[in-house]
Amino acid sequence: MQYSAFSIFWQGLKGHTGWKPMWRDPEPRREYDIIIIGGGGHGLSTAYYLAREHGLTNIAVLEKGWIGSGNVGRNTTIIRSNYMLPPNTHFYEKSMQLWEGLEQDFNFNAMVSQRGVINLFHSDPQRDAFARRGNAMRLAGIDAELLDPDQLRELVPVLDFDNARFPIQGGLMQRRGGTVRHDAVAWGYARGADSRGVDIIQNCEVMDIRVEGGRAVGVETSRGYFAAKKIGIAVAGHTSRLAQMAGIELPIESHVLQAFVSEGIKPLIDTVVTFGAGHFYISQSDKGGLVFGGDLDGYNSYAQRGNLPMMEHVMAGGMAVMPAIGRLRMLRHWGGIMDMSFDGSPFICKTGIEGLYLNGGWCYGGFKATPASGWCFAHTIARDEPHPLNADFTIDRFEKGRMLDEKGVGPNPWIQ
Ligand SMILES: Cc1cc2nc3c(=O)[nH]c(=O)nc-3n(C[C@H](O)[C@H](O)[C@H](O)COP(=O)(O)OP(=O)(O)OC[C@H]3O[C@@H](n4cnc5c(N)ncnc54)[C@H](O)[C@@H]3O)c2cc1C
Repeated sequence: MQYSAFSIFWQGLKGHTGWKPMWRDPEPRREYDIIIIGGGGHGLSTAYYLAREHGLTNIAVLEKGWIGSGNVGRNTTIIRSNYMLPPNTHFYEKSMQLWEGLEQDFNFNAMVSQRGVINLFHSDPQRDAFARRGNAMRLAGIDAELLDPDQLRELVPVLDFDNARFPIQGGLMQRRGGTVRHDAVAWGYARGADSRGVDIIQNCEVMDIRVEGGRAVGVETSRGYFAAKKIGIAVAGHTSRLAQMAGIELPIESHVLQAFVSEGIKPLIDTVVTFGAGHFYISQSDKGGLVFGGDLDGYNSYAQRGNLPMMEHVMAGGMAVMPAIGRLRMLRHWGGIMDMSFDGSPFICKTGIEGLYLNGGWCYGGFKATPASGWCFAHTIARDEPHPLNADFTIDRFEKGRMLDEKGVGPNPWIQ
């Protein structure tokens, strides 16, 4: 079913009785060419691009819960391509370009809003580091602007410029960055993949990956065994567990990250702002709620809920930069499970097992990567070789000493 202004008008005349389900609920076949494990943003976009770009449609996406129940429906919706290291810069810029045409592409309103992302800086060394990152972006053809306090005052008057504990010296802005309605991304890709013949199987947990003679041949699930010629893992916070099923140990730990939404208020902030002297970032949703988040909870967990000390820590970060929000009431908060890689960069690659492919290590920034991740993973699975854009996102980069470490903290990511 195509969505258009005309179809909305027509359905209005019919009392909205003619809308069809956005994807089928098919009875699974016992054998597929390709099985994608995980119906989050990355698994669904992979299936979509496998069908759209490579004409492969004998595909199942197996999701243990429901579409959108994982991080794709839990994140704070920020998209950007403001990275410094070339492999990340080019990969995330590809993602940004795909975001820019996404809604037309899959005929679904994902509310892509390029409202700008501003990273605040609060000291001379931090300004230098941000200027360097901005220059690297511009050299790669990506928009970046270094803002002084006066320019910032114009854009975000609600920040505390006069009495802040960490005085605001300026910000690095990417105007093409912004936000996207997160669960609409999952629904749009699911709808697009389904309409091309991909089977989306919900409530189907993968319990084991069968490997015979060094080759992945199928998966044991809560709904029985399914054979496949190729299997892609795209399960975000559960990546290390799924890889273990095939005997692979990954440099990934699972951690909780929380997000928060306040009660709805009148328009206060029309861009995305991140605090540079602590971990706090904020935007305002179309319903008026302030959406914000901060650091990881700091312990390994598979529980999708957070804890009170981190809540207090995040609120303190908010108060340090934007005290005007102090009297707001919190409406909701939740947690998601992050697949933290040791250099902060992802994996999109083949594994040592033939026919088994890996997509993971997204840390707390994988939402913005959703389109490019699916696009590159689809290429890797379909052609059995990486695209140049994901050629560096391999597991063996640690063994070979070619880590992609944006923060420059080496093998000790907890020392920042
Ligand atoms: C609070 C929070 C804020 C964030 N903010 C941002 C942000 O602003 N910008 C940004 O870029 N990123 C952000 N992220 C990170 C981003 O959401 C994730 O990196 C990204 O969504 C992960 O990819 P995914 O969508 O495929 O994951 P998911 O949606 O988690 O998909 C993985 C799926 O695999 C399924 N699964 C797991 N195990 C199995 C199994 N055994 N069998 C079958 N299915 C299985 C899960 O149920 C899940 O649906 C944030 C994350 C959180 C939690």
